Amino acid sequence: MESCVFCRIARGEIPSPFLYEDSELFAIRDIKPIAPTHILIIPKAHVPTLGEADVSLQGRMIEVARELAKKEGIAERGYRLVVNTGREAGQEVPHLHLHLIGGRPLRGLG
Ligand code: AMP
Repeated sequence: MESCVFCRIARGEIPSPFLYEDSELFAIRDIKPIAPTHILIIPKAHVPTLGEADVSLQGRMIEVARELAKKEGIAERGYRLVVNTGREAGQEVPHLHLHLIGGRPLRGLG
């Protein structure tokens, strides 16, 4: 996708340091973090929403999030994984991404 922000980051057109990368996925810090750790785990391919992701991709995204939570030192304290899916969930970027959020107490689901 030409203009998709996460596709552009995946192609290196928008500089954003990768915290993790493999052939399928990459992870970056959210540009507007809501907690000390706020990382996005993103497929390199343009998968619009969770609805289009196969089970293997879903599993890999969660596995990478678990590893990054350990690396960030928040695995024991606890963290939240969020996938906003579609309009009513407030998905702003129509390219699947998993939010890894932690490093402070998180209340409610808002
Ligand atoms: P969502 O509402 O789940 O679609 O969240 C999209 C997230 O992408 C928001 O938390 C944004 O702050 C984040 N975001 C948008 N553009 C960038 C960017 N260039 N680099 C890092 N994060 C971004």
